[in-house]
Amino acid sequence: MILVINKQASEDTINEIKRLIRDKGYTPREIHGTDERLIGVVGYSDKDRLDPAYFETISGVSKVIPVSKPYKLVSRDFHPDPSRIKIGDVVIGGDRLVVIAGPCSVEDRKTTLEIARLVRRHGAVLFRGGAFKPRTSPYSFQGLGEEGLKILAEVREETGLRIVSEITSPAQADLMMKYVDVVQIGARNMQNFELLRCVGRMGKPVLLKRGLAATIEEWLMAAEYILSEGNDQVILCERGIRTFEHYTRNTLDLTAVPVVKKLTHLPVIVDPSHATGLREKVLPMARAAIAAGADGIMVEVHIEPDRALSDGAQSLYPEQFERLMRDLHVISPVVGKQLDFDYLPKARYLARKDHAVEPIVVYSGDPGSFSHKAALQFFGETVPMKNLSSFREVFSAVVEGRATWGVVPLENSLTGSIHVNYDLLMEYDLNIVGELTLRIVHNLIGIEGTTLDKIRTLYSHPQVFEQCKEFLDKHPHWDLVACKDTATAVKRVAEKNDYSYAAIASAEAAKIFNMTIIKEGIETHPRNFTRFVIIAREKAFEGYRDKSSLIFSVSNRPGALYEVLKIFAENGINLVKLESRPIHGRPWEYLFYADVEIDLGSQEHYPVVEEIKASTEFFKFLGSYRKGMQVTD
Ligand code: PEP
Ligand code: MN
Repeated sequence: MILVINKQASEDTINEIKRLIRDKGYTPREIHGTDERLIGVVGYSDKDRLDPAYFETISGVSKVIPVSKPYKLVSRDFHPDPSRIKIGDVVIGGDRLVVIAGPCSVEDRKTTLEIARLVRRHGAVLFRGGAFKPRTSPYSFQGLGEEGLKILAEVREETGLRIVSEITSPAQADLMMKYVDVVQIGARNMQNFELLRCVGRMGKPVLLKRGLAATIEEWLMAAEYILSEGNDQVILCERGIRTFEHYTRNTLDLTAVPVVKKLTHLPVIVDPSHATGLREKVLPMARAAIAAGADGIMVEVHIEPDRALSDGAQSLYPEQFERLMRDLHVISPVVGKQLDFDYLPKARYLARKDHAVEPIVVYSGDPGSFSHKAALQFFGETVPMKNLSSFREVFSAVVEGRATWGVVPLENSLTGSIHVNYDLLMEYDLNIVGELTLRIVHNLIGIEGTTLDKIRTLYSHPQVFEQCKEFLDKHPHWDLVACKDTATAVKRVAEKNDYSYAAIASAEAAKIFNMTIIKEGIETHPRNFTRFVIIAREKAFEGYRDKSSLIFSVSNRPGALYEVLKIFAENGINLVKLESRPIHGRPWEYLFYADVEIDLGSQEHYPVVEEIKASTEFFKFLGSYRKGMQVTD
């Protein structure tokens, strides 16, 4: 049962409500993450049956919602928004996909460290490895115990990867508290209720595997045990169930992903290694898991799988893991998420004290705009952000040191460049230090009850009208009104509160303003991506960089542009974009904007830059950065 608390209720009233709940023999649990103040009534009482009518009469309670499901705290009814579980710099359940990788078991120090360096290099953010192994045979390798945990702690120390390891008995709780960041409950222990209560009390994030033959309801009830002890940091992990099929080790129940995500607010990840038992099946099922909406995956990786002491047959070779990360990097924007190869170094870099001007990140538009989404996906949800009302303000805030980074769109795959930002890049002395590709899905949004035939006026950004041209051509009588961003468009329609107005924007914007999606996916082509760049005063982010942007102009003589292009060709530099823009105040003279796939800011390529400078009249280096997902991949 959930009690919706009156907005005016004082803390004293709320404490009194909690006391009455306890009096009846139940436990009150405050529910966070929603706009309303909610208290869940949970537990078992032999004193009294739960009677909604009784709670309705209590002062301060505005509504009672009975929950018929056997699980309560894990249910979406209790907590409509998805839970985000924070482990160090990593958040599971947000817009970023999380990859947990490592060996089945910790075998020895050298091998474990080598595997950790490898998986980190390719973008894993958490490290897995068992020190206490639940083996089917008592004669198989049982794990190194505390010695294994010490090796895992060393992995964390050296690589910054936080540690996931399995607990097989409450007797190991102290060791787990000391050495690991996420405690795993293995499939065989999913209904070990004493162990579930124990990890509930430990208060560390828990990765709860689905049992070998557990129904979804049994799995959620197991999670309920952990939450009922006061620990709501639970990550569910689908790892395959036992069926009549023996070709694979288990049968991966991918249906469970969308089913469970609808029933619970907890994040769900997939373990395709234990699900399939065959390394060659791990990649396709990992890709499928992400496409199905999982928040991440957990995979077994080994430097020499053929010599692994456990689960070698399902452990990926290093090259397979690298391939997997590349595939997921490309798939993730398609499902509205991101996967960085260098998230951990980036997170550490962002957390540095000298970046502590607030807000750290600025973008143009209202919350819920695509720029806001891009900023969240690049920087994560814990970095302070502020929205400004124009791109120019974003540039000036960064130039003047009122923010460290700005996020601006540069081009769209359907409609081309956002010229105003190219012009601002020319005008302001800032560097491009990163890029991100966002898939753009447009929705027709209005107040509840709006239908296509009622709409007369449509608000959105002019570029969005272009991206939805085919759909809008079918409604030639609609009046199109330009707004500075899509979230502002939705806000204006919300204010009108009239069936004849609608907006085009993201699903997030519709949710923020409590509006209804009338039609989903109205962009002319589903392969609709916008490339955003990160601008900063500093030269570049630390770490790997493989793309650079520059602006140049050449003299007005035959072959002048060819000479510059020849430098790229002769040095084997791939030119991925070349565009000309008029020079303001000098009619029929042009600047060239170029993107190349190389780090032109590095010492090594200094001579190439000098050569380009010598062949151009004007040269401005815009920065080098790590390339984001390419639309053509
Ligand atoms: C594991 O992940 O190491 C493991 C033993 O998996 P499961 O409990 O899913 O069999
Ligand atoms: Mn294993």
